Amino acid sequence: MLVTGGAGFIGSNFIVYFLETYKDTKVVNLDLLTYAGDLSNLSELENNSNYTFVEGDICDTALVNSLFETYKFSGVIHFAAESHVDNSIKNPDAFVKTNVNGTFNLLDVAKKHWMEGPFTFKMGCENNRFHHISTDEVYGTLGETGLFTEDTPYAPNSPYSASKASSDFIVRSYFHTYGMNVVTTNCSNNYGPKQHDEKLIPTIIRKAITNEPIPIYGDGKNIRDWLYVLDHCTGIDLAFQKGKAGETYNVGGKNERDNLYIVHKICEILDSIKPKEDGGSYAELITFVTDRPGHDFRYAIDATKLENELGWKASENFESGIMKTIEWYLNKYNN
Ligand code: NAD
Repeated sequence: MLVTGGAGFIGSNFIVYFLETYKDTKVVNLDLLTYAGDLSNLSELENNSNYTFVEGDICDTALVNSLFETYKFSGVIHFAAESHVDNSIKNPDAFVKTNVNGTFNLLDVAKKHWMEGPFTFKMGCENNRFHHISTDEVYGTLGETGLFTEDTPYAPNSPYSASKASSDFIVRSYFHTYGMNVVTTNCSNNYGPKQHDEKLIPTIIRKAITNEPIPIYGDGKNIRDWLYVLDHCTGIDLAFQKGKAGETYNVGGKNERDNLYIVHKICEILDSIKPKEDGGSYAELITFVTDRPGHDFRYAIDATKLENELGWKASENFESGIMKTIEWYLNKYNN
């Protein structure tokens, strides 16, 4: 298996989960180690002979080609991306390069090896699956009601979501044009261990315990549908193994929470397990800052297709998952 972006948040959780679940599978992790990649996320695998790390760029055709030649991958799970919306507002170029061109490069090399090369399998390459990891942000924003389904029209609003939408369409075209065995999952916001410090939940925990202002965009009323990262991993696993070629599957755990709820919940838990030194509440540190431009109001996922067709079910609700997450970050930041 080739896994891209496996030194990042979701990819690293996925590789550890996957190698623990399937003991006879071998994984090559191709990751450029941008600011978002961290090899310590994979420290559990140091002595695992089924795991190989390769530092490199998914846009590098010669490198990706040589990896396919060397390892004869039977499947690809593609996580690598520029993933932070705020960075995409300041520097969209890197998002187009990695998310659009990089996805195209991987797909095209995979197609050459699986469908045209000396190791050609049947047309449609049934045995060789390309799984593309995407986001619910491609659907744009919701009002107070409604859910994103797989049929919701794409309406991306940030350079990040536009680059992911573009990559989803390229993946789709390789199924419809060439009969390539692709599947795409569109997931809601993830949280859990190993997420980069820049993201909302690690920022809230870090700022609270260092007694700094906790920044919250606008009025804090924006709503996201939060999924514990290991539930995302089981959803990917099912869609990769059992999903239908050419299909897309939404992944989400029905955990809509607004940012104000999230920050107050984390402060409340910290108040009880790590009381603030001055005897106050961490909530006193909440500071509202100028809203992100084009900030989508609400995302909410309908994951019925993944649940009914493939039998997926989330195991954590937000309140159980956030407890584990806080414990993990307290351990990280105290070290
Ligand atoms: P992340 O930013 O934590 O990790 C991205 C990884 O990709 C990093 O290790 C980075 O070094 C690597 N990378 C970046 N550019 C690369 C390149 N050109 N070549 C090789 N490697 C490169 O991201 P994440 O949060 O783990 O997200 C993983 C995937 O899941 C992304 O495709 C993202 O769009 C998608 N997704 C994320 C969320 C979320 O809430 N985090 C939700 C839905 C979907």
